[in-house]
Amino acid sequence: MMRPIDKGQDRRLRDLSEARRLLSAQVGEYCAYCEIRLGSLEIEHIQPQSTHPELVTDWSNLLLACGYCNKFKSNKPSDNCYFPHTHNTALAFAYIASLPPAPSDNLTDTQRIMAQNTIDLAGLSRTSGQHQSRREGAYGHARRAFMRLQQQPDNDLLKEATVDTATSTGFFSIWLTVFQDNPELCVRLIQAFKGTARDCFDAQGKPADSRTRPLL
Ligand SMILES: [Zn+2]
Repeated sequence: MMRPIDKGQDRRLRDLSEARRLLSAQVGEYCAYCEIRLGSLEIEHIQPQSTHPELVTDWSNLLLACGYCNKFKSNKPSDNCYFPHTHNTALAFAYIASLPPAPSDNLTDTQRIMAQNTIDLAGLSRTSGQHQSRREGAYGHARRAFMRLQQQPDNDLLKEATVDTATSTGFFSIWLTVFQDNPELCVRLIQAFKGTARDCFDAQGKPADSRTRPLL
């Protein structure tokens, strides 16, 4: 899974600071690639500024990303990759515990290559540094919340607190994976993470084929 996002309507932008403000209002303060929550996200140009100067303030070419993903991606061409605003990335990647994302098991060979290209593009397989410790932290929060809810499955305040912790911790896909057998929590998480593309999930909160976002 990688959180698929809905950037909403096309915007005409005056400058990049306006883009940053509008994007964080629409999809939250999460890196589009690694899903870390940061107050210091950067504007990421999908097609690099150096090769596509005409797209520097084009809404369709912009995402929010952390400094690491943005720098790692740098000027690499982004062909043959999946992107969270155009593809159903919920189907393309899988998380196991706090490990970095890997291509999902049930992809075709071509889809697997595209998923791996995306991982390579933003350096998503990294397992050290701040990113890894934050991801492990999120997994720990999610597991503890999961166990508390198993003890008190009807406690509505606990459900609300779980969703609040998730949105303030980030790493949507880790939360959704930990709660994959709890449809009610999955649906709540999908609704609570601002700008998540809801049509990429079914009514049980499971990643599902999206008519508007075929994987290839
Ligand atoms: Zn990132």
